[in-house]
Amino acid sequence: PHTGTQEYEDGVPKIPTACITVEDAEMISRMASHGNTIVIHLEMGAKTYPDTDSFNTIAEVTGSKYPQQVVLVSGHLDSWDVGQGALDDGGGAFISWEALSLIKDLGLRPKRTLRLVLWTAEEQGGIGASQYYERHKANASNYSLVMESDSGAFLPTGLQFTGSDKARAIMKEVMSLLQPLNVTEVFSDGEGTDINFWIQAGVPGASLRDDLYKYFSFHHSHGDTMTVMDPKQMNVAAAVWAVVSYVVADMEEMLPRS
Ligand SMILES: [Zn+2]
Repeated sequence: PHTGTQEYEDGVPKIPTACITVEDAEMISRMASHGNTIVIHLEMGAKTYPDTDSFNTIAEVTGSKYPQQVVLVSGHLDSWDVGQGALDDGGGAFISWEALSLIKDLGLRPKRTLRLVLWTAEEQGGIGASQYYERHKANASNYSLVMESDSGAFLPTGLQFTGSDKARAIMKEVMSLLQPLNVTEVFSDGEGTDINFWIQAGVPGASLRDDLYKYFSFHHSHGDTMTVMDPKQMNVAAAVWAVVSYVVADMEEMLPRS
């Protein structure tokens, strides 16, 4: 089955819910259209366990000229309990890791700090992201760009971006550097679960744009395994992530907020 969260308003009976995959729904539909009587045997094992400690994982390349200023790349380290979490969100976590790793291997150090955050407990409601924001929001004016990849890290078609018109124009120029990979589009809606606090505080935000149809074919199911990931596509996604984060971190000015 496809899995996910279920929330209840106060004061209503907490009736258990379940959902099935699109494939199973289509199979049941075909059986019904053949006139078959359908009997479904459903077993549910969902449980809520007590809270426990977990931690964001953070690494950074400290900026050479404006170390207190930050460009942040991120994905979440936890996953749903079914599957392996390869596309949700191993892909996003590891293209973010790879962006810093490539920049370090190339011996580059941008003017401002390039920070990797692998969020914890995204699936339980963005708990790691919320904790990080609470601890760092006093420094929000020093965040130039926050980036998150949480849609699989398949072959990207561009970048989703939220920010001022001036910042968008700069992002279009940055993305034009990726012409050799043919990934130059700047779309709207840069929001993502783990970076929304920052975007709401006025920090420009970006998300990787790729094939959401493929993402939701495997998302939160036993189908989310390493076999779904394509190393060549992940390399392109990592290249986009590295180029965008490095160039924005190395520009003389921060991205304009207005
Ligand atoms: Zn996710």
